[in-house]
Amino acid sequence: MTENLLELSGVHASYGRISVLHGVDLAVGAGRIVALLGPNGAGKTTTLNVAAGLHPADRGDVRVGGRALAGAYPVELARHGVCLIPEGRGIFPNLTVRENLRMMTFTGTDRSTVEEIAYARFPKLAERRRQTAGTMSGGEQQMLALARGLATDPAVLLIDELSMGLAPLVVAELYGLVVEIARTGVAVLVVEQFASTVMEICDLAAVMVNGRVQRVDAPGDDLLADLSALYLGSA
Ligand code: ATP
Repeated sequence: MTENLLELSGVHASYGRISVLHGVDLAVGAGRIVALLGPNGAGKTTTLNVAAGLHPADRGDVRVGGRALAGAYPVELARHGVCLIPEGRGIFPNLTVRENLRMMTFTGTDRSTVEEIAYARFPKLAERRRQTAGTMSGGEQQMLALARGLATDPAVLLIDELSMGLAPLVVAELYGLVVEIARTGVAVLVVEQFASTVMEICDLAAVMVNGRVQRVDAPGDDLLADLSALYLGSA
């Protein structure tokens, strides 16, 4: 049985008085890729933010490597191996590639190790270490975002909308890198609005509707049909 590195159970969360997560249950095993799919406003980003400690859970359990960490600060979660690559990538466009990487030393990894890990996995970034991040292509910027995540040696990688604004070929290349990362034993939870590319690489797809995970299944036509119905508002 695969060890679950990330487990959310019965997670409730709200914004002020508006409740948006109503008991989310989700688990990601070591070396597994789980896609979190669902229509706009279902609560996917909020779920990632709760898992990364950026948004508080009102109730429920967040476990990382079996350790209960609901309510922990983001930096504590990061030190326990949780890394979030947010929508919009979270890189600093006015800093160079190297500077962006070096900022990741907040998790305790030293500068040269952070750069070594990143360049070994993404040689393209080594060539561009002195380039200002904001002048790179969208795909290269997303690669830098992945490299920043990887440089912290994460156990759990949370990725929000990796494909946002990128051409299909670039998305496919980036997902190839995500597969390589998962093969090293990292648990990957990836949120996507459009399911088709991520369905090709994920082990499981979780369908979120109205703040709950409605279904978790192996990717396939049946699940895609279910999603299409949801997106078209007929389910
Ligand atoms: P999308 O695919 O559109 O990004 P999502 O599934 O990621 O959607 P969330 O962003 O988690 O959904 O939003 C869930 C609900 O919470 C939505 O109704 C949204 O309007 C609401 N919400 C999100 N962020 C806030 C906020 N900062 N303040 C108030 N409500 C919010």
